[in-house]
Amino acid sequence: MTYAYDDQNIFAKILRAEIPNDTVLETEHSLAFNDIQPQAPVHVLVIPKGPYVCYDHFAQTASDAEIADYTRAIGEVCKLKGLDQDGFRLISNAGDHGVQEVPHLHVHILAGRPLGRMLQ
Ligand code: IMP
Repeated sequence: MTYAYDDQNIFAKILRAEIPNDTVLETEHSLAFNDIQPQAPVHVLVIPKGPYVCYDHFAQTASDAEIADYTRAIGEVCKLKGLDQDGFRLISNAGDHGVQEVPHLHVHILAGRPLGRMLQ
C-alpha cells in the first residue's frame, strides 16, 4: 500500500500551530486534543506528529520510537481522564469505507457515558 499525505489537512495545520487546539497531552511524537464536536463527555483525538494518513500507513512506516510513543500517549490520556473505572472506546477510521474525514491518523477516545453496542 502506498499513501500520499496531504499536508493541508486540518490536523497538519494544528501541528504547525496554524489552527488552535484544546491540548490534553503532548509528547515527543504525539499530540492529544479535545474533539471540536464531541460525541461523548470525553472525546479526545490522539494523533502522531509525523505525516501518516491512517493506522495502516503508520504501522508500516513509522519508527519503533514513534509507535511506542503513540501507543503510550493513548494510554496516558486514558489515565489522565480516569477511564480505568467505567471504560472507553477507541476508534480509528480509515479511507472511504471507514468514513475518514481528516486524512491524518487519529484515534478517537470516547468515554463518559454508556456508548452502546457497535458491532452486532
Ligand atoms: P474522522 O471522521 O474519524 O476523520 O473524524 C475527524 C474528527 O475530527 C471529527 O470527530 C471532527 O469533529 C474532528 N475535528 C475536525 N476539525 C477539528 C479541529 O479543528 N479540532 C478538533 N477536532 C476536529
